[in-house]
Amino acid sequence: MFRIAIYGKGGIGKSTTAAALSCAFAEKGLRVLQVGCDPKADSTLYLHGGKRIPTILETLRKKRTQAELEDLVFEGCKGIMCAESGGPIPGLGCAGRGIAAAFEALDERNAFDILKPDVVLYDVLGDVVCGGFAMPIREGYAEQVYIVTSGENMAIYAAANIAMAVANFKERGYASLGGVILNRRDVPDEREKVETLCRDIESEIVADLPRDNMIAEAEKTGQPLMEAFPDSAFAKEIRRLADYILEHAPQSSDERGILYASADMEGKRAADRCDL
Ligand code: ATP
Ligand code: MG
Repeated sequence: MFRIAIYGKGGIGKSTTAAALSCAFAEKGLRVLQVGCDPKADSTLYLHGGKRIPTILETLRKKRTQAELEDLVFEGCKGIMCAESGGPIPGLGCAGRGIAAAFEALDERNAFDILKPDVVLYDVLGDVVCGGFAMPIREGYAEQVYIVTSGENMAIYAAANIAMAVANFKERGYASLGGVILNRRDVPDEREKVETLCRDIESEIVADLPRDNMIAEAEKTGQPLMEAFPDSAFAKEIRRLADYILEHAPQSSDERGILYASADMEGKRAADRCDL
């Protein structure tokens, strides 16, 4: 099993990339678990025909400890297992704390041992890298972080922040930076701008995803692009990226529990101080 987290600025294309990658891994015969870590809970929308699945936090609020694993994880297209952390009650809780609670709920139900995924993808909002949103990086959940960015300034700014959060924890053996995924907005000198970012954060562009209207066309049909337009330029580059990720996946391990137990729990404690 290997676990990656997809981070990036809001609206930059994380969920589109994550869902497409999940499809590409599933096409290779791998068992895939995609976990949306965003209160909007739309990471896995197009893996379910455009319909939302119940979120972990919603279900926990209704069923509490009675919630079973099958109430939290749902099978989508190509057999991809999908979970959405969801968010707190608007105006009351803390989104980061919500992610921590959702992860704990999966842990308590031995999700990884029971579902036995080959690949776990976390799709994480990267505008705020607070204790809760950094959980996939710092608590041993993800081994590698991939950052999605365009050449737009705010996207590059968010990408640099995320890279800094990863660097802060790297020494302690948590997630490392896998690379930068350029998702084009077709701004001038886009690749050059992202190459400059990569030099600054000591990383590299591992995929160059074109702006592709087929994505919107696929969304209209409620399908992921990989099913609706499997031969589109975006789909081809995603398959290449999936190969790259597989080649560079760490050889480990089902050691998440060990990492988790020994992790610096500061972020979790910070998240614990917030309400759900
Ligand atoms: P959020 O932070 O809100 O979760 P996100 O980073 O997950 O956003 P997506 O939901 O994947 O972003 O994408 C935002 C919008 O941009 C979607 O409507 C998607 O169809 C579109 N989009 C993403 N990538 C591309 C692309 N390469 N070409 C065309 N449209 C794209
Ligand atoms: Mg998203």
